[in-house]
Parts: sequence; C-alpha cells; structure tokens
Amino acid sequence: GGRPILARQNARESAARTYARHLPIVPVRAQGSWITGADGRDYLDCLSGAGTLALGHNHPAVVAAIRAVLDSGAPLHVLDLATPVKDDFTSALMELLPPELAADCRVHFAGPTGADAVEAAVKLARTATGRRGLFAFTGAYHGMTAGALALSGATAVREPAVAGDPFLTRLPFPHPYRCPFGLGGALGEAASAAYARTLIEDPQSGTALPAALVVEPVQGEGGVVPAPDGWLRALRALTREHGVPLIADEVQTGFGRTGALFGVDHAGVVPDVMVLSKAVGGGLPLAVVVYRGALDRWAEGAHTGTFRGNQLAMAAGAATLRHIAAEGLAARAQELGTRILDRLARYQAHYPVLGQVRGRGLMIGMEIVDPAGEPDPLGARPAGPAAARRLRAELLSRGVIAELGGRHGAVLRLLPPLTLADDEAEHLLRALGRALDVVAE
Ligand code: PMP
Repeated sequence: GGRPILARQNARESAARTYARHLPIVPVRAQGSWITGADGRDYLDCLSGAGTLALGHNHPAVVAAIRAVLDSGAPLHVLDLATPVKDDFTSALMELLPPELAADCRVHFAGPTGADAVEAAVKLARTATGRRGLFAFTGAYHGMTAGALALSGATAVREPAVAGDPFLTRLPFPHPYRCPFGLGGALGEAASAAYARTLIEDPQSGTALPAALVVEPVQGEGGVVPAPDGWLRALRALTREHGVPLIADEVQTGFGRTGALFGVDHAGVVPDVMVLSKAVGGGLPLAVVVYRGALDRWAEGAHTGTFRGNQLAMAAGAATLRHIAAEGLAARAQELGTRILDRLARYQAHYPVLGQVRGRGLMIGMEIVDPAGEPDPLGARPAGPAAARRLRAELLSRGVIAELGGRHGAVLRLLPPLTLADDEAEHLLRALGRALDVVAE
C-alpha cells in the first residue's frame, strides 16, 4: 500500500495541505473517472482535479496530443513566443467562445493557475478604464494570490493575508437558500441588483465608478450557488450602461461544466472579460484571459510572467476543447446533471440531513443540514458541517471521492468528469444513498 508514502509526506508537507488530509489515498494510476490507489482500490473521482479534468484522467485524445508534441521535438518552454502549438490552441479556444466575444477579442496567456488569470483580468480592467474600484460578491472565490484573495469572500482564508483591497466593494450574491438578509428568490436578486445600481448611480453612495465587476456564473467554492439568470442580465445591463467591464470568472464553470459551454450562456450574457483556467489546459496548468479588443490597452510588457507558454498544456487543452465540442459534452453534462439532481431531490424525502440540492450540469452541491435544528424563516435548516464531513468520509470508504465547500463547509460538492458514464453516475448515487443511510442513523 501507500502507507509509508502517506506517512512521509504528512510529516514533510505544509500544514496548509488540504485534500491530502481527508483523502488518505496515494494515487498511482488513473483512467477516465477512476483513480487507482497504492492500496489497490479503485475510486470514482467526483472531484476530477478540482473540476480540471473535463475528460477524466488520461483521456486517449489528451494523452495523444501531449505525446505528439513530445515526439515532434518541439521546444517545451517558449516564454510567450508564437508556436504552431499555441496557434492551434488559440484557434480551438476561439471556436468555442461566445460568437460576440470571438468576433472581436484578444487572448492573454496569464500563467499556470486560475489566480494568475484573475490578477491579469483585474489589472487589465484597471489599465483600460483608468479606474481602481472593484465590485465583488459575498461567497466569491477567485484564488489565493493577494489580489484574487481580496476579491474572495471567505473571511477565514483572507484574514491572515494582506488581502484587503481599499478599492474593493463587496456586494451580496443572491443566495436563495441561506440569504443572510432573509431575502429568498427573486426578492434577493432584485435587492442585490438594486444595491449595485445604487452604489453606481447614487451620488450619495460614497462609491466611485468601479474598474470592473467580477462574478462567478456559479459560485463553486462558495457552495455551488448558481447566479440567477435574471440577476446576471441585470448586472450586464447595469455595467454596460455605465461602461464598467464585466469580468466573468469561468475558471470552474467554463467549457461545458454547467451544461452550457460557459456559465454565462445560461443567462445569454456576454461578458467583456472571461477568466479561464482548469479545463482549458486539459488537466495541465494553463490560465487565459479573453477580453474585448477595445480593452487591449496594455503597454508592451505591462503584464508578464515566465511560464505563459506551456506547450504541453496548450496541446492538452486544444484536444480537450475540441473533444468537448465534437462530443457535445456540454449538452451531455446538462442531461446527466439534471438526472442526478432529480434523483437527489427524491433522496431529500428520505434523508432529513439533505437540505437544498442545487447546481447546473455536472457542478452539483448538496447542503448537509442539522435536522434537529430550528429552521430559519426561509426554511433553511442549520448547517451540518460535522455530518458533511462524515458523509465525505463514508463516500470515500465506498470508493467515491467528493469534496466539501460553502459557507459552513457543509455543502457536499460533485465535480465529476463530463465524460461520466451512466453506470458511473448510478454507482455514485447508490454509494451516496448508502453513505446517507449511515450518516442519518
Ligand atoms: N476562480 C474560481 C472560480 C475558482 O474556482 C478557482 C479555483 N478553485 C480560482 C479562481 C483559482 O484558480 P487556481 O486555484 O488555479 O489559482
């Protein structure tokens, strides 16, 4: 087994390590939706590299694309130089973009991680508008670099860092289940949009016109909270009216994950800037910002970085994007995700620990609640973080990998590969049912 490896790494690695704490497995092989541990067991991977592995592990098309670059003798490290591999990746990317954006856009290779692209997007907006202010939302997650952290809403991870941004204004993300203001549904959406409008239009608001508004189409780390379509459209109208670039952080929602190619597509909204990472590199580190040509006011060298041309990631990414398009994986995610959500809704009747079930496509969250607690006026039960942790552990013992997130760490999150097969979804749902049986005891 992998016990000695686990013990050594637990002794040597940072206390900040996360997944390794509650996934005590040592992956040695992986294929499709499955990881094989050094213990010889197979695990259904419903985390898929934090939503990175859209095609699952070692998809033949991705492996072949990486191998082709290696076999070709092409340079692997090229800074930001133009190469045939980059040319091909850029074409594959532009074919998938919302047509309105693709018609007039620029692509900025931001570095290996999502946070890099968030930083670049914010700096770009500030450069283009000459303004400093930023609007971001409660519950947001945009990454762990200082600027991205400042945009993020999770106080616990922000606090110890110098993560404040004096130009940041935080707005309430409409959360139908646990709205801190007790404003559910359309009421919460309307209030949030009206608040944003007041901040921009009321001369007494004390808030300057921002350089950008940054939003996730579905909050992921924040607990899988979809942005209501009408609310996103209201934000689009407001920002367009006032010349504020709308930055959509599609790091987690991009490329079919939510059942549409991009999370904003559900609302028919086209942002001015799209932040892309995770699936864009086909499982290898790559982050890209796509933005309207009019915003391209960078001076030469205004935003640089050494690793902005990872050829293997671009090859893996191009193969992934083409496969998603060719196989209609966004529609497949929509169809399978709806089926899974329907089944989970039926589980709710049997399991009082199962609170709201929500999501889009194959980005699914379940609020785990304390059934003994008093519901708040909206009917939301108190969070059950301990039960959520038990559920995650019970799932793992049944060979299913899933993560937690959300306000109280009480949301069980599913981010399986978009290639998840019907029988794998069935396996997941059965394991979940049995794990719920144990947790509900
Ligand atoms: N934005 C969103 C919406 C994310 O979900 C994440 C990562 N979970 C990030 C940004 C940061 O990406 P990275 O971890 O690659 O820096």
